[in-house]
Amino acid sequence: MARVGIPHALAYFLYHPFWKTFFESLGHEVITSTPTTRSILDRGVEETVNDACIPIKIYHGHVAELIGETDFIFCPRLVSVRRHGDFGSETFCPKFLGLPDLIRLTFDQAPPIIDTRIDLKQGKDQLESICREVGEQLGNDAQQSKAACEKAQRVHKRFLALLEKGMLPARAMEILFSPEKTVSPPDQKGEFNIAVVGYPYAIYDPYINVGLLNMLNKEQIKVYTQDMLSDKILNREARELPKSMFWYFSNRAVYGALHFMKKDYIDGIIHVTAFACGPDSMVDRLLEIEARRRGKPYLSISIDEHTAESGVRTRVEAFVDMLRYRRDKYEN
Ligand code: SF4
Repeated sequence: MARVGIPHALAYFLYHPFWKTFFESLGHEVITSTPTTRSILDRGVEETVNDACIPIKIYHGHVAELIGETDFIFCPRLVSVRRHGDFGSETFCPKFLGLPDLIRLTFDQAPPIIDTRIDLKQGKDQLESICREVGEQLGNDAQQSKAACEKAQRVHKRFLALLEKGMLPARAMEILFSPEKTVSPPDQKGEFNIAVVGYPYAIYDPYINVGLLNMLNKEQIKVYTQDMLSDKILNREARELPKSMFWYFSNRAVYGALHFMKKDYIDGIIHVTAFACGPDSMVDRLLEIEARRRGKPYLSISIDEHTAESGVRTRVEAFVDMLRYRRDKYEN
């Protein structure tokens, strides 16, 4: 049995249920780094090149936390998770493509890195051979990997179904993996409904965004995110655009935001954007123009390692006050 380390960052927020189930079904122990803390961020900043975006810096901090605790670190080369053709070609951003190399070059004392290339552009059938390759590195045979892969796909499907019911990933993972815990039901109503869009690692990591979702919760805001929308809905938006953004997570944020902008029940959109992110500079501008065109209140929050909670809180409170003003104006 091997101890496989999974950093609690980047793709973790959408794919952890799959990989945790896969490794555990093969009989290995999964060790996840703790949720982001100040010391993880500081360590990441120390280890990473200066001009990297904050999610990449944080990822390095999580890897540093796992070194010495695990036999392997799972850091796949994420290229594509869906078939090309229907929506043009689409990949993860270049930082994801080079992530295993970055980690290897940064940490010379790191344990072996499982850096299997995940590229499903020919279709989901490729997943089985990817899983076989990962299993081989851990000493598992093809039969075991196939069974583990099938189980992991079933769990991933249940995870997506929970997200589509309006749950955030952390809550959905608790339901999947800690059924003994009492999980409170999602909030049914709020004073306003706000769609928070952005990269999963920017909107679901409370440290990176200084607790934005909690702040909204305290303001009696019901939060929607693009990951609560089915692929069918996101694909419908994709078909309406003349071309895609090329980057997978950017596309999801754009399609989700465009969908929410058309909905009367959504009172406003918040885009959480990472400072120093190339793709995001285009996404943010596009969303801002679309929101203005459709008359939907829009707030862009840029995050980096210096983002202060008070600054974000002030902007969120001002945004909510503006929503109240609009509501009162149009209702009276
Ligand atoms: S998409 Fe942007 S924020 Fe995400 S890893 Fe790439 S550069 Fe960083």
